[in-house]
Amino acid sequence: MKVPFNDLYLQYKSIQDEIDFVISDVIKKSSFVRGEYVEKFEEEFASAIGANHCVSCANGTDALYIIMKCLNLKQNDEVIVPANSWISTSETVSQAGGKVIFSDVNEQTYNIDIRDIKKKINKNTVGIIPVHLYGYPAEMEEIMCIAKENNLWVIEDCAQAHLASVNGKNIGTFGIASTFSFYPGKNLGAMGDAGAIITNDNELAKKVAMFSRHGGLTKGDHKIEGINSRLDGIQAGILSVKLKYLSMWTEQRRDIANIYSEKLQGLKTPIIADGYKHVFHLYVVQHNKRDALQDYLKSKDIASIINYPCALPLLEAYRSLGHSKEDFPVSYHNQSRILSLPLFPGMSNEQIDHTVEKVNTFVKNN
Ligand SMILES: *Cc1c(COP(=O)(O)O)cnc(C)c1O
Repeated sequence: MKVPFNDLYLQYKSIQDEIDFVISDVIKKSSFVRGEYVEKFEEEFASAIGANHCVSCANGTDALYIIMKCLNLKQNDEVIVPANSWISTSETVSQAGGKVIFSDVNEQTYNIDIRDIKKKINKNTVGIIPVHLYGYPAEMEEIMCIAKENNLWVIEDCAQAHLASVNGKNIGTFGIASTFSFYPGKNLGAMGDAGAIITNDNELAKKVAMFSRHGGLTKGDHKIEGINSRLDGIQAGILSVKLKYLSMWTEQRRDIANIYSEKLQGLKTPIIADGYKHVFHLYVVQHNKRDALQDYLKSKDIASIINYPCALPLLEAYRSLGHSKEDFPVSYHNQSRILSLPLFPGMSNEQIDHTVEKVNTFVKNN
C-alpha cells in the first residue's frame, strides 16, 4: 500500500465535472485575468471568513508584501514574526522595507510565543505577524491585547488555516488584515498560484486593491505606483467550486487527525486547547529519531515532510542577523524532531491504519 502525502488528483476526480465546466467557461468568456469569476470568488471568500473585504492577488507571499507596503512600512520599523514558519512571513517584511524580528515559538502550540513577543517589543516595533501554523490558531486574543497596549498592528498569516477559529471567531478577523494562500496543497488550493488579503477596513481594502493592480482601479488612472499581482479567472473559478466543499474537507481532516491522536503511541502529537478549532493543514508529531522514522516510513511507501527543517533565523538568508540556536531554543529543539504525517481529504481508512501501524511499530522498537 502506498500513502502519498497529499492526493490532489483524487480531490479533482471527486469534483471533476464542476472543475472542467468552470475552466471551459472562463475560456469561453475570455475572462482570464480578474473578471466575473474573480469578483464572485472575492465575495464568497470574504463571506466564508466573515469579513467585509477580500482582495485577491497572485499568491500568499504577495498578499503579505502588498499589505505591508500599504501599511507604509519604513526603514527601522520592526515587525515581529515567528521563528518557525515558511520564509514568506519574514522575507516580505524585508522586501516591504522593514526589519524582521524573530520570536521563538511556544513548545505546546508551535505558534509564536507571546512571552517572547513581549520581550522583543521596543520603540521601533510597529507590528506583529502571527502565523496560524499547521492550521492551529495562534493565541489571538492575547496577541490582540499586547498589540493594543503597544499600539501595534497585527497581520495574521492564515496561509495554513482556512476556517480555523478561536472561541467561535474565525482566524483572519482579529488583526487589521490577514493573508491567505491558495497554493495547490493548502486546505483551499487552486490549480496554480493564488492568494488573498482579508480586511474589514474600507480604506485599506481600496489601497490594497489599487497597489496590486498598478496603483489604479480604473484603466489608465494610476493614483500611485503599484505592482502587478492579480488573480486569474481560471483559478478563481476553481476556488469557488472548491470553497463549497471546504467545510466538509476540513471535517475530514479533523476526523483523520482524531484517529491519529487516538491511536499513535509514544510520540508527541498536536494539542488542541478549549475553544480552538484546528484545521489540520498538517499533522505534526515529534520524535527524537525523526530522520530514522522518516526513512522507515519511506521504506514502507508512506510519505512524510519536515515543516520546516531549519528555523528561519538560523537559515543562511538571515546569517547577517547573527543569531545562534540559543536565541530560539524551542524552534531549534523542534527542527530536528518534527515530522508531518500524511493527511488529506479522501485518505482511505486503509491508508490511515497503515500509517498508524508503521509509526507505532517504529516507535515501539526505538
Ligand atoms: C504557503 C505559505 C505562504 C505563502 O503562500 P504562497 O501562495 O506559496 O506564496 C505564506 N505563509 C505561510 C505560513 C505559508 O504556509
